[in-house]
Amino acid sequence: MTGSPRQPDALQDLREISVRFGSDPMHIQGAGGNASVKDGAVMWIKASGTLLAEALTKEIFVDTDLPAMRRALGSNDPTADQPATFCLPGCPSLRPSIETSLHAVFPQRVVLHTHCIHTLAHAVRKDARACLADRLQEFDWAFVDYKKPGANLARGVQAVLGPDTNVVVLGNHGLIVAGESASAVADLQSRVHEALSLPAAGLKPTDTVALNALVGDGAYAAAEDPHLHQLALDPHRVARVTKGSLYPDHVIFCGIAVAAVQAGETLDQAVDRITQTGAPAPVWLIVPGAGVLLRKDAGVPARVMMRCLADVMARVPQDAALNYLSIEQNLELLDWDAEKYRQELNAC
Ligand SMILES: [Zn+2]
Repeated sequence: MTGSPRQPDALQDLREISVRFGSDPMHIQGAGGNASVKDGAVMWIKASGTLLAEALTKEIFVDTDLPAMRRALGSNDPTADQPATFCLPGCPSLRPSIETSLHAVFPQRVVLHTHCIHTLAHAVRKDARACLADRLQEFDWAFVDYKKPGANLARGVQAVLGPDTNVVVLGNHGLIVAGESASAVADLQSRVHEALSLPAAGLKPTDTVALNALVGDGAYAAAEDPHLHQLALDPHRVARVTKGSLYPDHVIFCGIAVAAVQAGETLDQAVDRITQTGAPAPVWLIVPGAGVLLRKDAGVPARVMMRCLADVMARVPQDAALNYLSIEQNLELLDWDAEKYRQELNAC
């Protein structure tokens, strides 16, 4: 990737680590996560909707006015939630990530934000702080409770940063690491990932007969990935993932929680029951004890996010109490009106 002359050399190093972690679904799934490098008053940040995995073959970074972004954050200016405002003249048609402000609050030059599976498996627990404290003793780290991605979350991170804090775990969301060079950040990311590493539960066999009897020639098919079916094959996991949503990207790409076919229901009856609440036809449906069904027209983002959920849930111990996003937190991610949603729920 040959950038424009104004791009700093450090951006090339950032591209390399972006591809390394962006290509590994244990760190980043699909278009999630982002990376940035500061060069004086300019911050280069990943553009919204682009893939870190493609950083060496496509232009995914845009340059933004760092002092202006920091001023907007400090004065509670609503433009802090409109990062395109801070694009420098000549910036390509890409829009900076909604998480741009999250990078601006770090004093370090290079920042990497991921949805690391091991971090998520801790960050969705009610006792996340205590579990993390056990495992992150050698790091200068901080924890921030869940907030919608954007300026409020950035201010929450800023409030907990000490002079040398370079690891921040975002409750029900993910991980941020920071450093003075891309190689230092890559090393830190790997060390935190290792420190939080959890073994995955083993795979159980799918009930393909039951799944095929249910799907017929309709809009759904049995998932191909055996890891996904595990969400349906362990009663604890069924109860957990149908109860609510655990982190934002799941809500954005798969909807609220995960729907299940109830005992005795046909697939059409299950879909009718769900869509009568005003929700769209579910991308995924769990068939408890049998496996997981996927809508045939589901896109790649929904598929990678469901695998992310399967990977997280395979690592959360059965006795851990989980922290779910509230209805309001789910709906603000979908830009839905909370009151309207409640009325629709009550109408059926
Ligand atoms: Zn994120």
